[in-house]
Amino acid sequence: MRTFRTIAELREVLAPIRPRSTVGLVPTMGALHEGHVALLRAARRTCDVVVASLFVNPAQFGDPADLSTYPRDETRDARMATDAGVDHLFVPTVDEMYPAGYATWIEVEGPARGLEGDFRPGHFRGVATVCAKLFTIVRPHVAFFGQKDAQQVAVVKRLARDLNLDVDIRVLPTVRDADGLALSSRNAHLSREERRRALAIPRALEAGLTAHRAGRDPIAAARAALGDLDPDYVAVADFDSRPTLAIAARIGSTRLIDNVPLDETATGAERLAPAMNTPTMGGDPT
Ligand code: AMP
Repeated sequence: MRTFRTIAELREVLAPIRPRSTVGLVPTMGALHEGHVALLRAARRTCDVVVASLFVNPAQFGDPADLSTYPRDETRDARMATDAGVDHLFVPTVDEMYPAGYATWIEVEGPARGLEGDFRPGHFRGVATVCAKLFTIVRPHVAFFGQKDAQQVAVVKRLARDLNLDVDIRVLPTVRDADGLALSSRNAHLSREERRRALAIPRALEAGLTAHRAGRDPIAAARAALGDLDPDYVAVADFDSRPTLAIAARIGSTRLIDNVPLDETATGAERLAPAMNTPTMGGDPT
């Protein structure tokens, strides 16, 4: 695996490859875990050349403390990326992506409105801008994203469609820890007690899904199962035309998001049950 820090060097290597090979891109902010690895492996299975990016994108952070404490470990990430079969690792600096005088931002409306868009103003502007830049730099045929960030998927799909970016967006199921908690780089911030409290989130999603299947209100059921956890929101949204039960909640100073599509098959629903889902469980792109 080769590591690239400049756009020019990466482009030089990719230019002759692209016409004869399928290029897959997995954009990440690093602090890789098995959720990211599932995306990398899917890219490895389906593409000739796999590019992964590690870039903690300041433009998508509203809270300076969240940005400064975001976990970073490039050495470990590079090892995991190599093991997952990544060919090219793109690790640009902030200056490389946003040089002095940078002034162009992409504002997606529609799917970026509401939920995360309300609680994190400017977040999706940063996400859309960095994804558009990465798509322009790498020009992948396929880009891989996680269902874990369901609203982000809807935003990126709309971005690609509206700007005719000619990239196929594939979505992989959420990878969970053995106890049901969705893997997230931010889980590293949770104390043991906070982690125990965070388990109310997958439990609430499961309760909501069960209620929905029985013809009852998923939001009421999920709220009841959250117990004393005070969420930013519990909502059913149409993300990319998929009805999805989504929850965001703060546990101490850590904000977590998770969701479950309500049109999941029975097999999909079982993914929320702790015993059924280990971090090694991947899944095929949908
Ligand atoms: P991040 O590094 O948090 O920006 O995430 C990079 C990509 O990994 C995004 O497409 C996320 O949706 C995806 N991702 C993060 N956590 C998980 C997870 N637990 N399961 C599957 N994909 C994930």
